[in-house]
Amino acid sequence: MTDRAPRLPDSPLHPVVAPCGRRFAEELLSGYLDGALTQGDEQRVRLHLEDCTECRARVREMSELREVTMSTRFAVPTDDQWDERPRGSLSLWSRRLGWILVVAWLLGITAFVLWEIAVGPQGLVEKTLVFGGLTGALLLFVSILVDRLRTLPGDRYRGVSR
Ligand SMILES: [Zn+2]
Repeated sequence: MTDRAPRLPDSPLHPVVAPCGRRFAEELLSGYLDGALTQGDEQRVRLHLEDCTECRARVREMSELREVTMSTRFAVPTDDQWDERPRGSLSLWSRRLGWILVVAWLLGITAFVLWEIAVGPQGLVEKTLVFGGLTGALLLFVSILVDRLRTLPGDRYRGVSR
């Protein structure tokens, strides 16, 4: 049975018939994606894709892979972006560092004050009031900070349009 299957020359463009019945090389599928085929080849691939789920899946796989490659390529700044980039990330990082220092400073002061009160002569009511208030203020501050940090990358662009 296999003996009777037509044996085409095993060149890239005329491989042996694929299991799904495709009579063209897989390279044509990727050429089809790129739109790089001749009209005849393009039609041949399209017709096959219409009734071959296997090859359609293969093409989808290829195009997804290609998208990943494309987006990776776009992530690399082009030449005209180079002079803009360090300035942007520098201000971003100094702002981020600024926030971190402010938080560290605030935490230090809070810890110091709490320690002073904890070991001080104040009564339980005063201690509870101060601890509760400071903890509340700290939680509010942290929540604002988290929001700030999340919006920071966008700030860069908002600053540009101003
Ligand atoms: Zn196929």
